[in-house]
Amino acid sequence: MNYDRIVIRYGELSTKGRNRNKFVGKLRKSVKLALSAFPKIKVEATHDRMYVLLNGEDVQEIKMILRKIFGIQTFSPAVKVESDLEKMKEAALELVGSLYQEGQTFKVTAKRSDKTFELDTDGINQLFGAHLLSNLPGLKVNVKKPDINLLIEVRKEAVYLSCETITGAGGYPAGSGGKAMLMLSGGIDSPVAGFMAMKRGLEIEAVHFFSPPFTSERAKEKVIDLAKKLAEVYGQMTLHIVPFTDVQQAIREQVPENYTMTSTRRFMLRITDKIREKREGLAIITGESLGQVASQTLESMFTINEVTNTPIIRPLVTMDKTEIIKIAQEFDTLEISNRPYEDCCTIFVPASPKTKPRREKVQQYESYFDFDPLIEEAVNDTETITIKPDLGNDDSEFDELF
Ligand code: ATP
Ligand code: MG
Repeated sequence: MNYDRIVIRYGELSTKGRNRNKFVGKLRKSVKLALSAFPKIKVEATHDRMYVLLNGEDVQEIKMILRKIFGIQTFSPAVKVESDLEKMKEAALELVGSLYQEGQTFKVTAKRSDKTFELDTDGINQLFGAHLLSNLPGLKVNVKKPDINLLIEVRKEAVYLSCETITGAGGYPAGSGGKAMLMLSGGIDSPVAGFMAMKRGLEIEAVHFFSPPFTSERAKEKVIDLAKKLAEVYGQMTLHIVPFTDVQQAIREQVPENYTMTSTRRFMLRITDKIREKREGLAIITGESLGQVASQTLESMFTINEVTNTPIIRPLVTMDKTEIIKIAQEFDTLEISNRPYEDCCTIFVPASPKTKPRREKVQQYESYFDFDPLIEEAVNDTETITIKPDLGNDDSEFDELF
């Protein structure tokens, strides 16, 4: 049996009332972009579902790609038939006949949104159950745990038959929720935070702080590789690489050692906020997790956060490292994050960073020197690049994500 389409169901999305059209439009764009390597497919969107018309393209490959797209709750390879009982019976027999193997069990699940259809759901279940049983010797019914569950969706315009419902990545489609800047290090946490924010529909641009010659080109490449993974969701992404050496040197000269880490974070946040303003973003996303390291105690967050009132989204704030690692594996970023290159925050680590830094103290230390020109210079010298996903390298599968 050749499936002619894939039915995509939106789930969460359909509760979005007036915004639905916008969401459907964004999802359609994501699906089209993700499937751009398949020139023959067509995407049809309606208010409550979407159809990918296969036109002979490979259903297995397309299934793998759809599993990664945010905004899809479930999807099913399907066949469209006319609302005509004889034609439906013929198609059902062909579909189940092509899938079933000797001794397998099945059930029929009818869904009827067209209430004018001549049979109700019980009637459809009985008719098609009997038809399959009498035509496929050896097939047995099992309503609790069937090997094959034939879904018959009777809708106004047509009937759709499918035997498989695949769980999608959920969430909202890319770009449906506004723009935010992701502070992207080469570590495990920040790429995961980026994916989780994108799952809520945010469009993200990444900001990476780089301190040559203390951090190497390979460290920068690592961040670019992480950005390529993140770019898979949206088809591309913008990465801002901030030269941070001069600011870091100045901090080292001006601020007492045990406060350098706090101050460094404050300057990173200030600079990110300036880039955010230029790029018209509305929030900053970080991979911080409460208590994980000295810069992530509540006291540190309080003191670092002082430099901006832009919303800071911390998707991982209450997660354990083991949970984060598991998600990094699922998003396929763990291996890249584990490459052993230094980050700008690890090069001048003080022997004993303050775990309870105070706002008044750091304000005082920072007041002895005019950092503004250095901040301006870092913002102006920021290199902005467009990152595209690595195509042809897309054989990773997203297992159950959340
Ligand atoms: P990660 O695994 O994301 O590096 P981490 O546990 O190592 O996180 P920190 O190094 O303390 O934690 O960084 C906390 C957060 O600060 C990161 O999640 C990231 O959002 C941001 N950050 C750290 N270093 C950089 C950098 N070089 N460029 C941009 N953002 C950074
Ligand atoms: Mg880090």
